Amino acid sequence: MTPSFGLHEIEPLAAGARVTKVPMTTDMGFDIPALEAALATGPALFFLPSPSNPVGAALTRSELDRLVAATRPQTLFVLDEAYFEYMEEGQTDGMTLVRSGNFPSIVLRTFSKAYGLAGLRVGYATCFNPEIARIVAAAKPPFNVNAAAQVAAVAALADQQWMKQSVERIKTERARLARGLDELGVFTASSQTNFLFFRTTLPSEHIAKALLSDGIIVKPWREAGYENWVRVTIGTPKQNDRVLASLNHILNGAS
Ligand SMILES: *Cc1c(COP(=O)(O)O)cnc(C)c1O
Repeated sequence: MTPSFGLHEIEPLAAGARVTKVPMTTDMGFDIPALEAALATGPALFFLPSPSNPVGAALTRSELDRLVAATRPQTLFVLDEAYFEYMEEGQTDGMTLVRSGNFPSIVLRTFSKAYGLAGLRVGYATCFNPEIARIVAAAKPPFNVNAAAQVAAVAALADQQWMKQSVERIKTERARLARGLDELGVFTASSQTNFLFFRTTLPSEHIAKALLSDGIIVKPWREAGYENWVRVTIGTPKQNDRVLASLNHILNGAS
């Protein structure tokens, strides 16, 4: 996808693959017909993040069904659900499809986002097909998740209440930050993640530099066609207020 999570491109390129990227629609949704067309060419691997990083959009059930239906037998469909925990209630998820046996694919999850354990480097993949599981297990490094990370991951999974409370806090702040950006005249893509992706009239590098000089780190997008887009992670209420005040200053010269 473009705009995309860098590793979805870098890892296959490092393995010598040819990578084709499918752009999001202009209003930052998934371009289902274009994705169906890409799947019809029968790629070996099809990577799709839902919810998307950096955009924030998540596939609906019918969109996911259409993509699964368009997947040819030679294609391994990898659904990256790094932001699964932030998805709206009633949204579909790949794991449910995997469990039903109707999703000939891999679903990726991580403890790096909603569980806050990025430094421990722990996540997992699920799939229904034992042959795919065997191949993934054979290809992974033998010592890939350390014992401390495994203990922390199990404990994190057991404390769903903490995770859900923190997700709720982020959703509340995300809505408030989105409203604030809207009031600044900034276009923000709708998000089911812990970040917002927005476009301003200025180059993203300029925005990022100006915010940095104010002590705020954001991610300026650099992919062609998205150079005015910035990804900002949802912070505490105080931090989000600072982002809005600083952006107001940068965009409107307000003090
Ligand atoms: C963060 C992220 C991951 C995984 O992160 P790890 O820390 O390596 O588990 C995967 N995909 C997307 C889209 C992400 O944003």
